[in-house]
Amino acid sequence: IWVKLLPLLKFVLTNATVIENLVAVAKDAALQHGVLMRIQEAPNSSEVRSNNTFTNNFFPLYVSSLYNQALSLQKHFNTLVDRISQDSEFLKEALARYTIEVDDFTSRLFKIHQQVLEEGRSSSITMGLNRSDYMMDQRDDGPVLKQIEINTIAASFGGLSTHTPEVHRKTLHLVGRFKESQRILDNNVAAGLAGGLAKAWELYGSEKAVVMFLVEDKQRNIFDQRCVEYELWKRNVPTTRKRFDVVYKTGSLDQDKKLFVDGLEVAVVYFRNGYMPDQYVSEQSWETRLMMERSKAVKCPDISTHLTGTKKVQQVLAKPGVVERFFPEQPEVAQQIRATFAGLYTLDQGPEGDKAEAMALAEPERFVLKPQREGGGGNNIYGKDIVEVLQGLKGSTGRMAYILMDKIQPVPSKNYLLRRDNPVKMSNCLSELGVYGAYVRHGKDMVMNQCVGHLLRTKSNEDTDGGVAAGVAVLDNPVLF
Ligand code: ADP
Ligand code: MG
Ligand code: MG
Repeated sequence: IWVKLLPLLKFVLTNATVIENLVAVAKDAALQHGVLMRIQEAPNSSEVRSNNTFTNNFFPLYVSSLYNQALSLQKHFNTLVDRISQDSEFLKEALARYTIEVDDFTSRLFKIHQQVLEEGRSSSITMGLNRSDYMMDQRDDGPVLKQIEINTIAASFGGLSTHTPEVHRKTLHLVGRFKESQRILDNNVAAGLAGGLAKAWELYGSEKAVVMFLVEDKQRNIFDQRCVEYELWKRNVPTTRKRFDVVYKTGSLDQDKKLFVDGLEVAVVYFRNGYMPDQYVSEQSWETRLMMERSKAVKCPDISTHLTGTKKVQQVLAKPGVVERFFPEQPEVAQQIRATFAGLYTLDQGPEGDKAEAMALAEPERFVLKPQREGGGGNNIYGKDIVEVLQGLKGSTGRMAYILMDKIQPVPSKNYLLRRDNPVKMSNCLSELGVYGAYVRHGKDMVMNQCVGHLLRTKSNEDTDGGVAAGVAVLDNPVLF
């Protein structure tokens, strides 16, 4: 008995010390490498108080080679997004009758889209910086890669993900896991995203024109954006950061529809704002969005590409034959894309919607009910709440504002999450892999189509929803095996 107890006791003590050391190193490394967010209480200040706002994780999770599958698919997802965005009939069919009737926000975006189409697109340069998110769904014969969603506007954390490898290499080193430490991949997303913006800027063809970051009023995630900005500076691409209200007050189009803001000609508008209803604080914000969309500036993304990222489009794509339609010459590509789709069901009025509703009411634990919203801010509905919401909407058109999705069930893994104002404890964690894509099209020519890196976010399985900005998930790194 004594022989057994002593090592155990020693282990427990050492472990506590190890954790304390890990916390210290993780914090210092995150600060030193700039894996930071500003705090809620001071979202527009980079003063020292921001130093305890980083989130990260000690032991990187082990992700299998499904990682390679996700990366190799990204170019095809870029192509898919681009092709859908050009297919106004498809977008209209997918969005006009349903989401638009019941969703004021999407409806307003769609109106801008229609207006721009009627007037004719004023730029021949189209680009996208998107992020396709996945979870590994557990099946009897092992995990499979299933897509959660694709983000076509303001896909964030590429900048910070560029620096998380340096943090996790250090924490792994501290606990003597040198081999794993060396296996954390480099991940230069910031350079890849900037490469797309720089290419569009170059094609626009005016040295003095700038890449304008359209930023939020509260800029908590500025460090993430700065990483991309600095990469643009390295390429001698001038940048500026502007809020909606500033663009409204100081922006205009000249007779050639060139966009000028605060005296600067804008070559590219990079939207890091404008994806949530409450970001349009007044009619002026909507007027500003319209002005930018009508302009000759390259939009990252343009309004059609923004709409392509809606959950309704995702659901329509999953219907038989739809994604296939976008790859008439490459059925195998359509098949690879489709393989990542989870079950997605319409809740439109009619027999199909009724069937999906009945399914959800019978086994709510198997599904996620999703409204047409973005931003990882707890919009999704789970479990018992699904029943409540669907019953509340019975007989009304309100049901159409949602789609139903199979709930993906990844295997939890034990890990420590380091979150601001939270005690460090062992949690059962779930991870979501994001893959970044960058593409630029000039007229009919795709002049760039790349996968530019990844993001791993991990959260406790006690939290159903909520991202890194909400303080729920933390930034992580995959270690491949
Ligand atoms: P958003 O655009 O707000 O980020 P998501 O579709 O990514 O919306 O949903 C937010 C979060 O909810 C995801 O990051 C994931 O953790 C969880 N989630 C969404 N869909 C599913 C699903 N089908 N199965 C399991 N979890 C999901
Ligand atoms: Mg999203
Ligand atoms: Mg998401």
